[in-house]
Amino acid sequence: MKKVDLIVPCFNEEQVLNLFYDETKKVINGISGYEFTFIFIDDGSKDRTLEILEGFAQKYKDVKYISFSRNFGKESAMYAGLKNSTGDYMLVLDADLQHPPKLIIPMLEAMEEGYDCCAANRATRDGDPALRTFFTRRFYRIVNKISEVDMPDGAGDFRMMNRAMVNAVIAMSEVQRFSKGIFSWVGFKTKWINFENVERAAGETKWNFWKLFSYAIDGITAFSTFPLKVSSYVGLFTAASAFIYLIYIIIKTLIFGKDLPGYASTITLILFVGGMLLLACGILGEYIAKIYLEVKNRPVYIIRRTNVDEPKDDYHI
Ligand code: UDP
Ligand code: MG
Repeated sequence: MKKVDLIVPCFNEEQVLNLFYDETKKVINGISGYEFTFIFIDDGSKDRTLEILEGFAQKYKDVKYISFSRNFGKESAMYAGLKNSTGDYMLVLDADLQHPPKLIIPMLEAMEEGYDCCAANRATRDGDPALRTFFTRRFYRIVNKISEVDMPDGAGDFRMMNRAMVNAVIAMSEVQRFSKGIFSWVGFKTKWINFENVERAAGETKWNFWKLFSYAIDGITAFSTFPLKVSSYVGLFTAASAFIYLIYIIIKTLIFGKDLPGYASTITLILFVGGMLLLACGILGEYIAKIYLEVKNRPVYIIRRTNVDEPKDDYHI
């Protein structure tokens, strides 16, 4: 019998966990020929999430949980889940039922057809705030243009993968993880299926505008060095224009003699060049900060409690 691990990152999900377990259980009870295991990751929740998970673990034998020492973010939670998975197929899904468990059926079918991965794509973003939809769409447009990987708009982390692909994903041990990019970067044969956006069953989203914005910047810098190129090109252009202007001034002075006015243009240029320099430094800084964080090689997550038999932590000793 093939084993399927359901990896569920949870951060303050006390309101929805029971419903999630029941709904998902309903679906998998109707599927024969597979053995399912839940791997819940409590990402440093401040509410009763861990308590509920420990309750599950006592009541049901198909429940494993890993609880972090603090909130490390969904990326770290997914990484921990994948690292501690032992199944033939691994499925990552949200605890809030926004990733409909009934899709497990077509996903398993795709895996049996020979795909390495079956990823679900949100066909619509109905129900999401308009501003968020707008910026998310811009983000995907930009990231797909400038980066080496292809990230379809609407593709979340909701996907089923086989062992080979999961091993490849785990092998990418970068500390600042951006899974959408990683999934695409590792390649493998992926089948895409669509699903309608559903609203969160209970509780509220853990993302706000700035969190998403900074996540988007991480996504771009993790998979593209294009911003660095832009700043070199802009620098080159500014320097070239300055040089042409210099020659113009020399010739003008030689022909017409000295003239003093030019205060406004001087100040404007100084400010413009200063701004450009700061921007370039900022972009450079983003990448240096990334190198700094990677070089320190801090663990992606720290486990505080778990019922996994031989938990794999992430200490590079
Ligand atoms: N999540 C997590 N750690 C975090 C934030 C979120 O594990 O720091 C989990 C959360 O519990 C949920 C999933 O990631 O299962 C998606 O989060 P959310 O529903 O808040 O995001 P949205 O659906 O609004 O994109
Ligand atoms: Mg959600």
